Amino acid sequence: MYAQILEERRQSIGTGGDVGRTRSIRCETASVSGAVSQRACVYCGARVVLNPITDAFHLVHGPIGCASYTWDIRGSLSSGSELYRNSFSTDLQERDVIFGGAEKLARAIDEAVERYRPPLIFVYCTCIVGVIGDDVDAVCRSAEARHGVRVIPVKAPGFSGSKSTGYRLACEALMKLLEGHEWDGEREGVNILGDYNLAGEMWIIVGYMRRLGIPVAATFTGDASFERLLRAPRARLNVVQCAGSMMYLANLMEETFGIPWVKASFFGLEDTSTALRQVADLVGDDEIRRRAREFTEERSRETAKLVGPYHGRLAGKRAAIFVGGGFKAISLVRQFREMGMETVLVGTQTGKADEYEVLGRLVGPDTVILDDANPAELERFLVERGADILVGGVKERPLAYKLGIAFCDHNHERKHALAGYEGVENFTREVASSILSPVWRHARG
Ligand code: SF4
Repeated sequence: MYAQILEERRQSIGTGGDVGRTRSIRCETASVSGAVSQRACVYCGARVVLNPITDAFHLVHGPIGCASYTWDIRGSLSSGSELYRNSFSTDLQERDVIFGGAEKLARAIDEAVERYRPPLIFVYCTCIVGVIGDDVDAVCRSAEARHGVRVIPVKAPGFSGSKSTGYRLACEALMKLLEGHEWDGEREGVNILGDYNLAGEMWIIVGYMRRLGIPVAATFTGDASFERLLRAPRARLNVVQCAGSMMYLANLMEETFGIPWVKASFFGLEDTSTALRQVADLVGDDEIRRRAREFTEERSRETAKLVGPYHGRLAGKRAAIFVGGGFKAISLVRQFREMGMETVLVGTQTGKADEYEVLGRLVGPDTVILDDANPAELERFLVERGADILVGGVKERPLAYKLGIAFCDHNHERKHALAGYEGVENFTREVASSILSPVWRHARG
């Protein structure tokens, strides 16, 4: 199994037969140099978490390439401002690298305030700023004093860790925003953490909460705005959907505001119903719990009826999964099982040891489990395990198509909501139309 795999990578690859049983796999570490990881950099990790804050001015302090790499990076939708869809940059040049870019940054913030009047500015420091050492804290502090708006530095040079480091920096920036907004009135409702409103998914989840009678105080960060985020400290519970990106914030909010958290996945029939009942149990009265029971039973019945006809045609097909976080991967394995499909490969960019253990117990003994993969490893195991479809993100799509394997985007670019009951329907249709397309017969020759 390890032939042609880099020696240093072997600890990060296992199977369902051993991971969580006789061994764990190495994860939550820096990528192996030269292995060409699929993972995004620290700055990108921070940017994807903060970017859906719709009325914030996202200013990238660095060369133009960093700003272009993450321009409009998620298909996050907004019910208000569209400012977040721009990618502003200080466009550092050779001269700035030699003499420093702090003055240029100060001028860029002044211009942003004058032209756009944003209530909140994030300043992302990328690799080169980490090298030249601009005093970005001082520039942001003095800009806040000058303009009376929040200017929060996110010091995220790409080389300073992994994508998870970026998630943590984004959570710290959000905490900085919430500091001083403690709530001493009565607590009500929930915050939803770790959903980015891709194709309107946050709206689906908020809609379910409304239907059950549970108010939503703030959303992190799908369709968020400066004012709405500041309402977060008044919630009774944090519901954490993407645990990889938001567990750190959930823990900080528990320490600072005393808000407990619960992990909840809204991917798949089983997980969506469990999540809604769990939230109702934790914050609801008898009436809300009754509504949750009725609502989940009704929607599960309806959805099962709609997707049932596809299952017969998908039964026995083989799925490969490579996504950002372990919690999502677990939901996807369960979702494929609901569809009668077998998962033959599952990997993540930022999964945690306990999540890999759960995956090890969920999948079959021959399923490949891998952390922080590179294209060569993915290619090899996709072919070897005979995958019919790869579920991944923008970087995995070309690999699947080159190998003549069906693909489903479960990351930034997706145009159909894949969360909630609506998501189960969309996902099943998308997987079916991709796998069952006659094109693969021709593409594979
Ligand atoms: S921060 Fe560094 S690694 Fe990330 S996009 Fe910019 S130059 Fe590349």
